Amino acid sequence: MLIIYLCIFFLGASLASYINATLYRIEKNIKLSTLLTESSYCEKCKKKLTWYELIPCFGYLLIKGRCKNCRSKVNPYYPISEAFLGGSFLLLYLNSSHFYIWIILLFLFLLSYYDFLYKEIPRNLVHTLLIFSILVFILFIQIPLSVIITIGILLGIFLLTKIIKKSFGFGDILVLLSIGLVISPKQFLTTFWLSIVSALLYAIFNGLITKEDIKKIKIPMIPFISLSFVIGAVYGDVIFSKILQLIIPPL
Ligand SMILES: [Zn+2]
Repeated sequence: MLIIYLCIFFLGASLASYINATLYRIEKNIKLSTLLTESSYCEKCKKKLTWYELIPCFGYLLIKGRCKNCRSKVNPYYPISEAFLGGSFLLLYLNSSHFYIWIILLFLFLLSYYDFLYKEIPRNLVHTLLIFSILVFILFIQIPLSVIITIGILLGIFLLTKIIKKSFGFGDILVLLSIGLVISPKQFLTTFWLSIVSALLYAIFNGLITKEDIKKIKIPMIPFISLSFVIGAVYGDVIFSKILQLIIPPL
């Protein structure tokens, strides 16, 4: 059993590593013909990475987060995102999640890359995600109540963002709408609040380290939405009921 779990984790982590490398090359306008064949190298000194540096997650730990050749720091986004996708694959597998939850996770993973590293998300990717979610909703879900609740919540968020300026961008709202279409309202609420709480903790933590004013830190929301989506899709119903019990204790 453990072997299967490890394989699934590494499948996710390797896919993450592959997606990150491909997106990096696309951003740097590296020729499409060499996209699949070229080996990875250090961003600073251009030295080719050795086989163990390429092991997802563990490669980073083995080189202690620095290039072996020039000692420049490797962006911790890479190992963290690899661990995230590996862990998410394992959770979704254990939960026997629908295939569309996996696909949405991959969309979120792509968006997180742009949001975290470039602080903006490509519009056509968000629109493709939304279209995919609408199709899933029409073909597999068909619960009008959940859509009414989701739209209600999103309208609420939209009004809230008018008040608390800039906490959510319009792209983030479209991503939340896409998620809301394919999971239950309880799972969605859990995802939504978890993403806010985790992003806030990140901002506070980041503020403590960099001594920047928390209000001025621009938080990329998609990575936190992605993390919360996996937890929400798997444990959302349980977490929601537990929190409800805490707020309104059973008589
Ligand atoms: Zn280097």
